[in-house]
Amino acid sequence: MRNLWSESEAAKIANDDLALRVYSSRLLGQEEDLVLHGGGNTSVKSTSTNIFGETSDVLYVKGSGWDLKTIEKAGFPPLELHTVKRLAEQETLSDTEMVKQLRLALLDPFSPNPSIEAILHGIIPYKHVDHTHADAIVVLTNTKDGDKVVQEVFPDFIILPYVMPGFVLAQQVQKALTNCDVSKYKGIILKSHGIFTFADDAKESYDMMIEAVTRAENYIKDNRKSEREIKEASAEDYLSLAQIRKSISTIRGSAVLVNSNFSPEACGYASRKDVGEIATQGPLTPDHSIRTKRAPAILGKEPEKDIQEFVENYKAYFEKNKHKQEGLQCLDPSPNFAIWKNKGILSFGSSLKDSGIIADIARHTAEATQDAKALGAWNALGEDDLFDIEYWELEQAKLSKGGNKKPLQGKVALVTGSAAGIGLACARELQQQGACVIGMDLSPKVLESMCEADFQGVVGNVTIEQDLRNAVHMAIDLYGGLDIVVANAGIFTAGSHIEALEDNTWDKTMSINLTSQQRLLKICIPYLKEGIEPTFLFVGSRNVAAPGAGASAYSVSKAGITQLARVAALELAPSGIRVNVIHPDAVFDTELWTDEVLERSAKRYNMTVQEYKTKNLLKTEITSADVANATAALVGPIFLKTTGAQFPVDGGNDRVI
Ligand code: ZN
Repeated sequence: MRNLWSESEAAKIANDDLALRVYSSRLLGQEEDLVLHGGGNTSVKSTSTNIFGETSDVLYVKGSGWDLKTIEKAGFPPLELHTVKRLAEQETLSDTEMVKQLRLALLDPFSPNPSIEAILHGIIPYKHVDHTHADAIVVLTNTKDGDKVVQEVFPDFIILPYVMPGFVLAQQVQKALTNCDVSKYKGIILKSHGIFTFADDAKESYDMMIEAVTRAENYIKDNRKSEREIKEASAEDYLSLAQIRKSISTIRGSAVLVNSNFSPEACGYASRKDVGEIATQGPLTPDHSIRTKRAPAILGKEPEKDIQEFVENYKAYFEKNKHKQEGLQCLDPSPNFAIWKNKGILSFGSSLKDSGIIADIARHTAEATQDAKALGAWNALGEDDLFDIEYWELEQAKLSKGGNKKPLQGKVALVTGSAAGIGLACARELQQQGACVIGMDLSPKVLESMCEADFQGVVGNVTIEQDLRNAVHMAIDLYGGLDIVVANAGIFTAGSHIEALEDNTWDKTMSINLTSQQRLLKICIPYLKEGIEPTFLFVGSRNVAAPGAGASAYSVSKAGITQLARVAALELAPSGIRVNVIHPDAVFDTELWTDEVLERSAKRYNMTVQEYKTKNLLKTEITSADVANATAALVGPIFLKTTGAQFPVDGGNDRVI
């Protein structure tokens, strides 16, 4: 484990206890093998002066909801130290009462809740306390003869058996501290949980953490009997992946995203003969189970069956253990991650953030369990203790802070022609409403306009089938499936009567506006069949119902896709796929319509630009945002019962009506 301490950085803040605490906490937080997604916590004991000029002893401890990697001073709620110490002397303290009492001890009422380990931090008689769930430490405590190994490697640490975090753990540590001479020890090792180091000096406490973890890492390196397995994954099975996503989403009753890890490391793990045994023993540290559940599903040749079996087992696990607390409700019984045999690791979440956190935990778990196995065995904490954590109200509270779900949360969309204009506006609106969006465009500009984790552009030509396939595969690769397609790409070549219309203009228009849309639909159908509330929306035109002279190719191509949509609605209804058409008209806020073009067009009608822009029944201007809003509504829950329909977004047109 690298020691990241910089004397020059630390010297700048040497006289500021809290700044130093922030500094070394962040050093710990940036090492994933030490601290992963909110795991671990740190504290510093200092003094604070109130408005009356009175000084008192304060414990600054990591606040709930903060991550050590990015923590700031505001992430350390200040507590009255003597109150915290008195709480440790209570005979019993329920979780709810502990949270309440800690809030009462806050010196700043606007602080976040202090860590559930605040009392433990308070009773350790040193200024700086560092706590991590370091992978290597847990590998040692959870391997074969773990007790013996830890005693041997850490004679200078107090070693304690696993107990539930929170007040019970604080009491256990209190007892251990009173029964020994603390000054002889560098820290505490908590089996199946993690490690504490402490010192009056920030650097010393940090150094001891790094030194202890390095010691554990070296032990693993020197004593392992085999290496982690590595294997190149075979070609991706997109359809099976979409089917797995659908199974999980159906059980949950809401769309999930899949984070797929097909790296050689993940594939190597998933190809191990003993993966079914080591992967299902239990998580690395108990707090992971609130994200990952106790174990992943193991998917073989029939993933759907395996998922069903996982669900049955989960329900049985709940039934067996629910007596432990009153009024427990079974959580969603679907797996939060899965080992797909010979392929890799899949993590499921309703947002990219959630599935990403689970994927990180799953990756570390795969590495650590292999390391423990290489030392002899991986023995995770028992089901009994894990159930207590998984259903612990304090942990559940962390998850429920997620807030309200957006209408398209967990959905995956593909929008063509999305580098600018209506396509980009539609893609952005779908993203705003919670969907992950792939945008395809001929223009490389799409890579700039769409370059966020949940909003990705890909360059492609809609008339080339392989390009269409690539975009669809990208959606499945990045997000696990495909639910929404907005076929927006198209061209408009006007100004030529049929007699004078160039053949290649006609052919090109048909190819881009009609044939490529049919190809896109055809390619998407197998995946949409595995989608969640799947829907395909064609972008038509007012010209379908009210054509104009000089635009035969455009009008015919748009009429063609309208008819295609009607037939598709009939054919795809049995598969639950909705197919509709949106007919926008006179959207002038796109790059196509420069001021110059607008003026020229207005003049042709003997109108001012403003009159020209609003020449509809409602006398209103139609914007890309209007089309985008209507699109998001049409593909979303509001129109769940509508298929084969055509929607104008044109301000009202007497010829259409
Ligand atoms: Zn902990």
